[in-house]
Amino acid sequence: MKQVRELAEAELPSLLVLYRDLHAHPELSGEETETAGRLSSALSAAGCSVTAGIGGHGLVGVLENGTGPVVMLRADMDALPIPEETGLPYASRRPGIMHACGHDLHMTALVGAARLLAALRDHWSGTVLFVCQPAEEIVAGARLMIADGLFSRFPKPDCAVAVHVGPDLPAGAVGSRSGILSAGGESIDLIVRGVGGHAAHPDRTRDPIVLAAQTVLALQTIRSREIDPNEFFILSTGSIHGGRKHNAIPDEVALKMSMRYHDRAVRDQGLAAIRRIAAGTAAAAGIPPDLTPAVTVIDESVPPLITDAALTERCSTAIRGCLGAERVVTIPPLSGSEDFAVFGEAGVPLAYFRVGTKEEGGNGAYLHSSRFAPPAEATVRTGSIVLAVSTLACARKG
Ligand code: ZN
Ligand code: ZN
Repeated sequence: MKQVRELAEAELPSLLVLYRDLHAHPELSGEETETAGRLSSALSAAGCSVTAGIGGHGLVGVLENGTGPVVMLRADMDALPIPEETGLPYASRRPGIMHACGHDLHMTALVGAARLLAALRDHWSGTVLFVCQPAEEIVAGARLMIADGLFSRFPKPDCAVAVHVGPDLPAGAVGSRSGILSAGGESIDLIVRGVGGHAAHPDRTRDPIVLAAQTVLALQTIRSREIDPNEFFILSTGSIHGGRKHNAIPDEVALKMSMRYHDRAVRDQGLAAIRRIAAGTAAAAGIPPDLTPAVTVIDESVPPLITDAALTERCSTAIRGCLGAERVVTIPPLSGSEDFAVFGEAGVPLAYFRVGTKEEGGNGAYLHSSRFAPPAEATVRTGSIVLAVSTLACARKG
């Protein structure tokens, strides 16, 4: 395992060049053309046979090394519509777009793992799939790749491992857990309808603005009054829009909401409660039945990320052996969502590791912040080692 650390150290300078290049040239979800080109070259140079254009700009690099298990390593490729304010010398050169979720680091770690595993061929036997997944931030890319034959055009993986940067953990630390790791999520559109009219004659209207305000507050009782206190559930309203003028009551108000859950039954309970409360609040406001609020679950569902206990333990043991026991910690479930979960839903056992990015003197910015500036060296080093060592643990020779 000392060999893995030494190899990682030797690869670090050129990996950091790749990282800075990826960071400076971010691309939005579904538009990862240049990113795919850079990764295709890097994975080919590491010895993989690369197939591009899977589920959009998705990429699969295959490293074959005799008989044995098929291990999938996955990195996400897309950036966010956020103007970068880190002041870094390699900051985004694309106005309004930024790698603020560390996907540039995940891709670099994936290339690092490819190089390490190619150099360590004598120590493992099997096949490794290096999967670069587009469109994670709109939770679409994993499904698109599966629909485009990820598990039929390539050998179906026996397990899959991914890393994600973690601003809650110190740089160099690795966090994971067995079972629920991140939340399932639904995006919900709610149109509150009324009867518009003159603001000076509210008596001649059915005001959807007042009704929308009552509905937003009433929906918060789902968490506080209906869901089992021991269950995880969040409902947040992220957008509320209605009307155009001071003195006109509009016909409708549009709400956009985000729901997070761990248990499918809690999700169903929450959705049923949203429909009931929205309709009931409207009825109490005198809204006629044909204008009952419209509740739509939009096509951005993501299941909870559930990791495999045996796989997580096997990989964690190997990572402890390489990096030291004190560097590997158990983390609580995350309230965010991650579409790596979709590969698990398709029947592949998953392990998922958060790679710490918090450092002394850092600016403390979290994921999706315009100031998110993770320490590149520590993160690339640890990320590459986590992916490579996990693969060795799953496909060890003999
Ligand atoms: Zn993100
Ligand atoms: Zn992310």
